[in-house]
Amino acid sequence: MIINEIFYSLQGEGSLAGVPSVFVRLAGCPLRCVWCDTKYAWDKSAGEEMSIEAVKAKVLAFEVRHIVITGGEPLVNDELIALIDAIGDPSLHITIETSGIEYVASLKCDLMSISPKLSNSISAEAADALEIDPLNIDAMQRLIDEYDYQIKFVVDAPADLDEIAAVIAKLKNVNPYKIMLMPQAATKTEYVNKLPMVAEIAKNTGFALSPRLQVQLWGNSRGK
Ligand code: SF4
Repeated sequence: MIINEIFYSLQGEGSLAGVPSVFVRLAGCPLRCVWCDTKYAWDKSAGEEMSIEAVKAKVLAFEVRHIVITGGEPLVNDELIALIDAIGDPSLHITIETSGIEYVASLKCDLMSISPKLSNSISAEAADALEIDPLNIDAMQRLIDEYDYQIKFVVDAPADLDEIAAVIAKLKNVNPYKIMLMPQAATKTEYVNKLPMVAEIAKNTGFALSPRLQVQLWGNSRGK
């Protein structure tokens, strides 16, 4: 399979923020978010061909409990199931980071980390041009129903809250304590500047503020 990169770092976002983790970045994503920080992983061929056994050996060599499968969009990768089955030692904790545009059943996944893409990242016109629905509510609902999950919304401005509320209203049985808000930011400065705005929204809604430690620490450098 094509592996974009494998690296050791800290989980930067969500309920496991700060936890040392090995990241396996798969290549390929059908979306084209304007603020995407991994554009280098968009293309399905963007990476190195590796056997699943070689990926497993490289991941396990870090001797870390937490594995994060990210992208790109892992849930559109045909070899995801085989990869996870190969890595899937019960002692390991596997997070899958997804936009929620696709549903895949029966994955050995301990945390489905869903980051729905709002119009601040992909406009309706851009989605139409790609002939894709970035908010696949049916797929998201099945992921929520069948996996332990968290939902992380990227907030660029206070007006995004209306759209976030509309997405949540379309989903059933969402635990509000699993919803997180995090600032849209590509640089440390942008991150620090937007944190107070997102903090106020978190206080007003009761949703948690998620950090983005990778931006705060490394300014979104690749492989960190
Ligand atoms: S879904 Fe993720 S990887 Fe794909 S374009 Fe959007 S931010 Fe980038």
